[in-house]
Amino acid sequence: MKLQTEVLVVGGGATGVGLVRDLSLRNIPCLLIERGDFCSGASGRNHGLFHSGGRYAVSDPEAARECIGENRILRNIAPHCIEETEGLFVSLPEDGLDFRDRFIQACQQVAIPTRLLSRDEALSLEPGLHPDLLSAVQVPDGAIDPFELVLSNAKDAEALGTRFLLHTEVTSLTINRNRVRYILARDLLHGEEYEIEASYLINATGAWADRFLRLAGFHIPMALSRGAMLITNQRFSHRVINRCRLPSDGDIIVPNHTVSILGTTSVRSEEPESVEVTSQDVSLLIQETSKMIPAIKEARLIRAYAGIRPLFQSVEKGEDRAISRGFVLIDHEKRDGIKNLMTITGGKLITYRLMAEKASDLICQKMGIKADCSTHQKPLPGAEKTRGFKDRLKALGRMDILCDCELVLKEEVEEVLKERKLYDLQDILHRTRLAKGTCQGGFCVYRLLGILHELGMAEGDSNKKLKGFLEERWKGIRPILWGSAAREEELIEGIYKGIFNLNNKE
Ligand SMILES: Cc1cc2nc3c(=O)[nH]c(=O)nc-3n(C[C@H](O)[C@H](O)[C@H](O)COP(=O)(O)OP(=O)(O)OC[C@H]3O[C@@H](n4cnc5c(N)ncnc54)[C@H](O)[C@@H]3O)c2cc1C
Repeated sequence: MKLQTEVLVVGGGATGVGLVRDLSLRNIPCLLIERGDFCSGASGRNHGLFHSGGRYAVSDPEAARECIGENRILRNIAPHCIEETEGLFVSLPEDGLDFRDRFIQACQQVAIPTRLLSRDEALSLEPGLHPDLLSAVQVPDGAIDPFELVLSNAKDAEALGTRFLLHTEVTSLTINRNRVRYILARDLLHGEEYEIEASYLINATGAWADRFLRLAGFHIPMALSRGAMLITNQRFSHRVINRCRLPSDGDIIVPNHTVSILGTTSVRSEEPESVEVTSQDVSLLIQETSKMIPAIKEARLIRAYAGIRPLFQSVEKGEDRAISRGFVLIDHEKRDGIKNLMTITGGKLITYRLMAEKASDLICQKMGIKADCSTHQKPLPGAEKTRGFKDRLKALGRMDILCDCELVLKEEVEEVLKERKLYDLQDILHRTRLAKGTCQGGFCVYRLLGILHELGMAEGDSNKKLKGFLEERWKGIRPILWGSAAREEELIEGIYKGIFNLNNKE
């Protein structure tokens, strides 16, 4: 099928989706291609920290300044995606207080508000902290739901006319007379081939940015860093808990809905798909985070996962380098002589809007259009809602709860199903809190399949779908399987083998 558009964006993470929202608000027609579902890359595999910038205040003040600026904006435009928990930077006896003093000064320099708490004040706010802590510094950290953020951006962009091709991979770029003339893409679910012409092409493929450019014979220096995280079956703190020292392994605990996320590690990786978690990662994260909250040693873990950070490695000669140290916007006209190609990569989830703004500004400049950015002021759809979990709590006691761990209602899921025809179980899980709680979908995904059948939306072999889901779930569960988690797995295995007869090998 042949398609045409003004701007073609490749990559359906926060950056690409934020970009098409920004462009469509400026009345520029766009098409976005993503080879999985939204959030298939780092945008669905991160820590969910709503950065105050504190983590970078000492080591990378420019990135810290970007974070606190976006922190203020997102509180206004995306309150439904954020839990305003506050955050503490905790000094333990082995850390001493030198770093704490540098930290407070560095925060002041980039306008991050801080409040110094004594040991007793910190323990009264967070009784689970190690009783020997020296002091804590409070900053405006929080928790952010990346799925809700990206889907809200997508919803707005779609309402403004953007078209999305999900589960579709760009496979080649044809360049002629210093322009990308067309790209070829393939629908990975149905096999449809697309030939797409666009006036401008934006590479927003995150950790795949270099691999994508290699389709056109170019190369950018990316350093890929794998970070592992663990999810506990309960919240261990009200606030984000950081270790007050330079960022390192196992120094942060982020509360998120009903769980806490322990993180993270940083290991150089060659492949953007290498997201396995090792037993060493698990031991290291428990050992380090339990120094801040000792009860974590006995925590019941429900999942391990990892993501790949897209880091831009260095500045090459003649390159249109970074707007900041946090992210890079490359104009391939200046770098490689290709007039209509740009790359935006690096940065953080929380800086997605700023990255989109800078990339859109560059496109407008190239198109000779005067259209100002409005994403810093215009709330996302859903901003008028209160945060989802509070609403779900109100439903306690009702009979139509589909997921008992996260209190997801049947009608919530049916609403998502009505919006568009989604047949892939993972697509549905990305759009709801289903399978994100303690049982990790063990008890609710087969109910979901029942609803798909009721609505006549369960195409194909349901047992095959269940198997696919269980295999994906297993990847996250295997590294943390001991104690109560192992016992629960035996129960779940019994249910799936016994009720659904998933015992056979084929
Ligand atoms: C371990 C870890 C923890 C993090 N924690 C935080 C945090 O707490 N807070 C924070 O603000 N940030 C955090 N980040 C950073 C943040 O997750 C990323 O910076 C952000 O999600 C990047 O978004 P993106 O859209 O640029 O890339 P991605 O989300 O990776 O999106 C790129 C997309 O491109 C698609 N794609 C690639 N090639 C093709 C192709 N050929 N055709 C079609 N599609 C293609 C991929 O499928 C992918 O979905 C963390 C990152 C990691 C790895």
